[in-house]
Amino acid sequence: MIRQHRDRFQVLGLTAHRSAALLQEQISEFQPKWALLSSSTAFQELVSDPNFPGQLGNTELIASSESLPERLRSAEVDIVLTAVVGAAGLPATWAAVDAGKRVALANKEALVVAGPLIMRRAAETGAVIVPVDSEHSAIFQCMQAGRRTNVRRIVLTASGGPFRGWTRQEMSQVTPAMAMNHPTWKMGPKITVDSATMMNKALEIIEARWLFEVTSEQISVVIHPQSLFHSFVEYDDGSVISQISPPDMKLPIQYALTFPERLPCPCRQFDWTQTACFELHPPDFDAFPALRLGFEAATRGGTCGAVLNAANEVAVDRFLNGELRFVQIVQLVEEILQSHRFDAHPSMAALLQTDAWAREEAVRWN
Ligand code: MG
Repeated sequence: MIRQHRDRFQVLGLTAHRSAALLQEQISEFQPKWALLSSSTAFQELVSDPNFPGQLGNTELIASSESLPERLRSAEVDIVLTAVVGAAGLPATWAAVDAGKRVALANKEALVVAGPLIMRRAAETGAVIVPVDSEHSAIFQCMQAGRRTNVRRIVLTASGGPFRGWTRQEMSQVTPAMAMNHPTWKMGPKITVDSATMMNKALEIIEARWLFEVTSEQISVVIHPQSLFHSFVEYDDGSVISQISPPDMKLPIQYALTFPERLPCPCRQFDWTQTACFELHPPDFDAFPALRLGFEAATRGGTCGAVLNAANEVAVDRFLNGELRFVQIVQLVEEILQSHRFDAHPSMAALLQTDAWAREEAVRWN
């Protein structure tokens, strides 16, 4: 997106965990002041490679994410795009919110774990959080059509993933390869498995609850296999607004960077010359119990999001390693969620402790 709009944006810093080659390409194209490669293995491999030039232009290459929060707070930084997967993105997201930056948020787990704390801090510092998650970007866009106080309901769309229409029984034999085959979106392994279990929608219910300050009763989920309607907002007068576009993450990413402006986007465009059919179905809560857990965690709040998210991160890893069956992912999350010591108003420290506790439990679970 920045390549398209070089006159408007300058890249100050870039981060990657293991993708050293891509990071190097981006460094030479965008010449940031600094670049972080946070995996120590990847960093060592890069700098000990005989072909490594020793210096990457004027870019400072850093190996530890320790200095990242301070770097994000710099007065030179206007926008922070946080796209780390999982609770690992929380420190950077928090630093950006704490420093009052525009935060283009793809790291939904930060809000799932610590939504109330992040939103309260954003209100204090003036940080504007513009979601990059396609559904939440859509809702954010639909909310420009009316007043927040007149929003009656938000409806998250879900493609239903590769097992839409399957029964729980039929899903008992699902392998990682089957779960990795998403029908409409091409994404990383964690979110692809989350889409197959529909735990991704559970995370998004919790994300929406905090981001848009609605109750869980004001949130619905609808299955929309074509992934063209990216969510709906229903207002008090019964009017329903949607944001519609072919599935392509370039659009929500660009919107988060340019809001409230809209610029030409090199993403797929809607083709008005073709016949199109849109389906909407109610979700199957029996086949996808993760949805129920999402609503439950959104209703109870407190430590529930941190537990659900941490347990799920470990469960997905264990499934991909062949240690758990597909249907056990949500079973594990549910059992750990039910057995945890609930705290309705946890501090950030308590949330991080709860996160660590849930991970240990999830590693042991069988
Ligand atoms: Mg999404």
